[in-house]
Amino acid sequence: MLSVFSCVERPECHGYDYEMMRNRLSYEKNQEKMKILNVATGSQDEFIDITEMIQQVVSSAGVIENGYCMLFVPHTTAGITINESADPSVKSDILMMLNALIPLEAGYRHMEGNSAAHVKSTLVGVSQLVAIEHGRLVLGTWQGIFFCEFDGPRNRKVHVHLFNA
Ligand code: ZN
Repeated sequence: MLSVFSCVERPECHGYDYEMMRNRLSYEKNQEKMKILNVATGSQDEFIDITEMIQQVVSSAGVIENGYCMLFVPHTTAGITINESADPSVKSDILMMLNALIPLEAGYRHMEGNSAAHVKSTLVGVSQLVAIEHGRLVLGTWQGIFFCEFDGPRNRKVHVHLFNA
């Protein structure tokens, strides 16, 4: 059986092996472009501005000039959103309205007793995709990236995946 490296020297080699080599190289590159961040939350309901933390990952990876940053929260009672970071009243208002819409007690059937947090997680969502231009996250003047805690305080994680455009 031909190794993937012998294919490079043999133009007549079957295209499948080139494909396999490309996939393997792409996988190895992507391993370097994936990072898991820890976020310690301090209260039951909370929005934490993680914009700078994410920009640090993009900057220190140093491999993405133009591309995408995919953020994923691997939790069922937390989320991630993008909204105004200039005036902290905005995140308070969003939390206030989420709490008004989704009360802690509403005859939920889930035995763990945290259904409100599960519902909020689904409404807000657990992923965001942000473009990267010239090594910087592309965000509007007033936009920030917020980790959304709905069942804290806990130690949480945010997965950061970087892709070249
Ligand atoms: Zn639960």
